[in-house]
Amino acid sequence: MPNGIQRRGLLKSIPALAVANGISGLAATGTAEAATEGSAMTPVTYLPVAVQRQFEANRQSIAGKAYERFFNPELAVPVTAAKALQMGPLAKEECLTPSVADIQRLLDPSFTTPKPGYAVLDGSTAYVQNRLIFPEATTEMFRWWFVWHPVERERYMLWFPQAHIENSVKDPERLADGSRNYEDRIYGNPNRIKEWIGPNLLDSIIYFSEPAKLGLDPKALARAGFTVSASGFAGPVTSEPITHTLMLHLARDVEGGMELVSRYWIGGHPELRRFPNAEKGARMLREAGFNDEFAENMAYELAVHDMIEFNHLAGLLPALYRAFGSV
Ligand code: ZN
Repeated sequence: MPNGIQRRGLLKSIPALAVANGISGLAATGTAEAATEGSAMTPVTYLPVAVQRQFEANRQSIAGKAYERFFNPELAVPVTAAKALQMGPLAKEECLTPSVADIQRLLDPSFTTPKPGYAVLDGSTAYVQNRLIFPEATTEMFRWWFVWHPVERERYMLWFPQAHIENSVKDPERLADGSRNYEDRIYGNPNRIKEWIGPNLLDSIIYFSEPAKLGLDPKALARAGFTVSASGFAGPVTSEPITHTLMLHLARDVEGGMELVSRYWIGGHPELRRFPNAEKGARMLREAGFNDEFAENMAYELAVHDMIEFNHLAGLLPALYRAFGSV
C-alpha cells in the first residue's frame, strides 16, 4: 500500500504507536568510535523532510536551556549496524516473539543478540531487535536519564535532536521526587511521547512497568546482571490503557561501560493479549490499515530510529550525567 504521504496521514490518524528510544559524541566524552565495540561509525546522511523541519523548531525551543550545549545534531551510527538493517527483514528463527517464554530467553546468561534487525511477525507485528554498548556509561546514569529527561520536553530533544518532539508523564511530581527510587518514579506513571519514526508521527502512551508484570522473572533478571529495566507496554493516547506495543530496554554494567538490550513489538501479535485491551489495540491498528506491508516499513524505520537514538544517547550520557546528575 501506501506511499509515504498516505502512510504519514494514516499514522497521524492512528492515535499512535509507542516507543522510546541514543547518540554521538558532542562536547565531552562521546566519541563516535567508542559507541560500539570497535566498529567504525558513519554519519547519518538521510533525514525525512518533516524531521529536518522539526530540528529547526527544536533548536529554537532549547535555546537558553542550561543543557543547550548537549543539543548535538551530528548523528553517527556503527557501519555494521547500518548495513545489517539494509539487508531486508530477519528470518523468523532469528526473532523473538513477545511470549513470556521468548522474552525469558533474553535473561539466559548465555543469550546474545545475534545482530540488529527488523521483521514482521504474526498479527502484522513490527519487530525490532538491538543491543549496544554505551562506553564509559553505567546503569546508574541510565536510570537517572529516565527520571531526568521527561521533566522538560526540551530534555527529550537531546536524545534525538531532529525527531523528538514531546515527552511528559501523568504525575510529574512523583517523577521528579528524588526521595523515591527509580522504580517508584517511572512505573505506573504513564509517559506520553511524541516523535517522528522515519516520516511517521507517533503519539503514544508508554506504561513503564515492573519486569514481573511484563513476564520477566526478577530472579532471572538479577542472575543475568540486568539492574535496570525501562520496559513497558504501550498504546494510543486514550484514558484507559490500550495495548498495541511491548517494548523492552534491559541494561547491565559490563567491563568498560553499559550494555543495553532492546526489543519492540508493535501490532496485533496474539502473545500481546496478556496486556490491557490488546485486542482493541490490534483492531484499531487493523482498521487504520496496519497490515504486513505497513508493519514491515514501520519495523525498518523504527530499527533505524532506535539505532540512531541509542548511539546518540551513548555518546552524550556520561558527560551529561557529570553536568546534571546531581540536579
Ligand atoms: Zn525516539
